[in-house]
Amino acid sequence: MRFDQLHALYHQPLFDLISQGREIHLEHWRGEEVQRCSLLSIKTGGCSEDCAYCAQSSHYSTGVEREELLSIQKIVGVAERARAQGATRFCMGAAWRGIRDGTEKFERVLEIVREVSRLGMEVCVTLGEIGPAEAHKLKAAGVTAYNHNIDTSPEFYSEIVSTHTFQDRLNTIAAVQKSGMSVCCGGIIGMGESVDDRLRMIEILSEFDPPPQSVPINCLMGMSGTPLADQPPVDIFELVKLIAVARIALPKARVRLAAGRTRISREGQALCFFAGANSIFFGDKLLTAKNPAVDVDLALLRELGLHIEPVEAAALPAAKERVEAAVSAADASDTPAAAARREARNGHK
Ligand code: SAM
Ligand code: SF4
Repeated sequence: MRFDQLHALYHQPLFDLISQGREIHLEHWRGEEVQRCSLLSIKTGGCSEDCAYCAQSSHYSTGVEREELLSIQKIVGVAERARAQGATRFCMGAAWRGIRDGTEKFERVLEIVREVSRLGMEVCVTLGEIGPAEAHKLKAAGVTAYNHNIDTSPEFYSEIVSTHTFQDRLNTIAAVQKSGMSVCCGGIIGMGESVDDRLRMIEILSEFDPPPQSVPINCLMGMSGTPLADQPPVDIFELVKLIAVARIALPKARVRLAAGRTRISREGQALCFFAGANSIFFGDKLLTAKNPAVDVDLALLRELGLHIEPVEAAALPAAKERVEAAVSAADASDTPAAAARREARNGHK
């Protein structure tokens, strides 16, 4: 979608925009379904890159302890627990610039992927820069999706990272697309970028061929010791508007409400789901940042009437039928409110 179209969408009154987002959402997705993904840091800290938001960069003193690649047993244990808690996608992240075929490290990662993929969840990895050979082998080992975020607009990118370029990110994404793995690619808001930078990011994502199947929208978690530690939190309505625009520009993508949910109220998250978000990261920790507790998330989803069990698409009536069924059941009841509704409708016919 072109920048001017995204700009026009974004600058509408909020309710108009989120209604359009909802309409598109219901054309492509079941409105009550929110995918729960679990994310584990399989190699933490000590990264050579200088991404200004990241607590795992070795360029900053953030207090994050460097840890080597976790053992297969440990990772499989965490993945089994996540599945038992209802996760249908298991994501593994590694803090390094990238990984190369032919190294012992890469062989270990392939082994981890083979083991985790046996558990029957979608498997997603985020391992930094890769090329066609690595992408091909990861796909063969059982990776469903590769996450590699563009993070912001190309114009703003050099303000937050100097050790690699926006084009490097695009090259990895091209290799992933060619391998047949699905692409998970989104960004972060709240780093000091403008609204136009955010819309440019959506423009670029929507022009991928094919478009990304999954789009995480992170709100910056200001990590102590990083250059962006003191950025003010993102305004909730700016987040909701960006989610609605992402939903409209990328109708078939899962839009993931990713980092920063600890700072968003229940009402704010509800608005994000209404505007088009249909996935969350689930689990008390998001790599090195905090995430809402599992029981708090379950309670919220339940209260909003969003499904907390994975459901077969065919097992539930479509949202529209459910609305009609709920209305006629309410009208058939004998309460004064139902009688008043019947009367009002008859009067308006
Ligand atoms: N090293 C790999 C890479 O850069 O692609 C994978 C790990 S990296 C930590 C995964 C993503 O998490 C980043 O691309 C960024 O979008 C997000 N992220 C990292 N730190 C964040 C923070 N403090 N606030 C919000 N999002 C963050
Ligand atoms: Fe390293 Fe990834 Fe963090 Fe950048 S975002 S510093 S590449 S772990």
